[in-house]
Amino acid sequence: MDLSKLSQILQTEPKFRFKQAYQALYQDLVERWADVSVLPLALRERLDEECPLDIKSELSVSSKKTEKALITFDDGVSVETVLMRHRDGRNTVCVSSQAGCPLGCAFCATGAAGFTRNLSAEEIVEQYFFWARRLNHLEEEAKIDNVVFMGMGEPFLNYDEFIKAAKTLNDPEKFNLGARRLSVSTAGIVEGIKKLAAEKIQMNLAVSLHAPLDSLREQLMPIGKKYPIPVLMRAVDDYIRKTGRRVMFEYVMIKNINDGEDDAVTLINLMKKPLHLVNLIPYNATGKFQPSSPARIKAFREKLEAAGVAVTERLSQGRDIDGACGQLAGGKGVNK
Ligand code: SAH
Ligand code: SF4
Repeated sequence: MDLSKLSQILQTEPKFRFKQAYQALYQDLVERWADVSVLPLALRERLDEECPLDIKSELSVSSKKTEKALITFDDGVSVETVLMRHRDGRNTVCVSSQAGCPLGCAFCATGAAGFTRNLSAEEIVEQYFFWARRLNHLEEEAKIDNVVFMGMGEPFLNYDEFIKAAKTLNDPEKFNLGARRLSVSTAGIVEGIKKLAAEKIQMNLAVSLHAPLDSLREQLMPIGKKYPIPVLMRAVDDYIRKTGRRVMFEYVMIKNINDGEDDAVTLINLMKKPLHLVNLIPYNATGKFQPSSPARIKAFREKLEAAGVAVTERLSQGRDIDGACGQLAGGKGVNK
């Protein structure tokens, strides 16, 4: 798929062609310009030649709850993207913002696979196109309700392309997805948090914390050395002050590493503000660590709640669904 010349080509046409082309592309989800009968034949041929709409993809997992696909771009680089089909009928798409990830978190399959390159905004949006088309084929009424930038890579290390992609999804003339349906997760890149706070687009922010103390966090997430927790918390609180929006702290529960009572107590001291929300995530074993037991997660949660901290927990029914995010090994196929 390559839309880079689309505007340029349409500019040589009467103005209304833009609207027709956009309608076909973003709403009708056509896969070839040849099918867009409202456009003149010569234009359709030119568009198919210069702005091809086909997506190179391979569905790697397909179940009622989760579908995973590998999308390959023109230079042969691939990323994984996930569709989560929730019980209540909602659909969430998880997109990658980089091929691989340079941050090397100890518990993450993407991190272990290393970094290949940043994706362009168009390549990020292409993942959305893929699922929008697929849902369109699967069920007439089905649509995508939410998009999470939680696939491979660190969105804030590719900020400009990430935000351009988010704005394309939000654009009323394109996918028209409300900003509140969009969420981004960061390993804690402070510059990105600051930039997002200054954006008009009011999307949701999640911060991967995973440990309440820098000594442990640095072991799990080497980027913690660059952005220690106090610096990170200050950036988050500035974000909250500026946007009035709540921030979700992701906390992957790893057996005997970060799931103890003392960890809960330290975490409580960090989560003092009403707009701080903790999301406990069952760890999906990628080799190194073990997941915390459900009893341990329950005890951790209750401790936080007793101290007045807002907590959500990914349901075990969603284990493989949510695990899809953060478990993507990219072109090397599905890990595990
Ligand atoms: N790089 C960003 C976004 C992608 S990862 C970030 O780190 O926030 C999305 C989420 O999946 C992060 O919270 C990440 O910590 C989590 N994750 C990574 N590996 C995981 C695993 N094996 N099990 C559960 N969650 C994992
Ligand atoms: Fe990169 Fe996020 Fe995985 Fe860490 S958890 S290696 S930041 S994708």
